[in-house]
Amino acid sequence: MEYPDILHTLTKPDVESIPSETIVYKLDVDNNIVAVNRLWQSFALANNAPELAIDQVIGKPLMQYISGNITKHFWQTLLDKARLANTVLHLDYRCDSPDLRRFMRIKVYRGDGESLHFESALLRTESRPVSIHFKRAQQRGADAKVRCSFCNGILHKSHWVEAESLVTGQKSVTLDVIYGICPVCQSTLDSL
Ligand SMILES: [Zn+2]
Repeated sequence: MEYPDILHTLTKPDVESIPSETIVYKLDVDNNIVAVNRLWQSFALANNAPELAIDQVIGKPLMQYISGNITKHFWQTLLDKARLANTVLHLDYRCDSPDLRRFMRIKVYRGDGESLHFESALLRTESRPVSIHFKRAQQRGADAKVRCSFCNGILHKSHWVEAESLVTGQKSVTLDVIYGICPVCQSTLDSL
């Protein structure tokens, strides 16, 4: 997965301070993606998302890649807060794969000309006892669970739980989900 390195579009001091395993992207004042690093591309392709390849995303609005009104609203609030803040904002989130819980931390800060810089780093992983795939349901139905798009928790009987707790006796399972934001992630964002 070798692709043109477009990190040169970021300013040099930023690049030097970023560990190599960090996904980096930059938005312009209108929240269009203007730069991503090589790891973005590797991550996109490893997750079967060729639509996120570098040559596809540059110049596109970030919001185009965020599904669901609730998640879009969450991200819009984060972008607004980051532009107003005079400090770097940090948020922990999960970006799980079927076999791994991936604990991530995102760092957002304002750059020149109202641009926003994002650095998303993998903190640690834990293997899952069960392989869990998630399929986006077209609508909220009896079988579809609500999944927090930020911490990957699943709403089950009014509690937010790890997906594994809903699965027994299987090695691999696919859950139908619709995406939302859990109250914990919402209040973490609100308190930034
Ligand atoms: Zn959450």
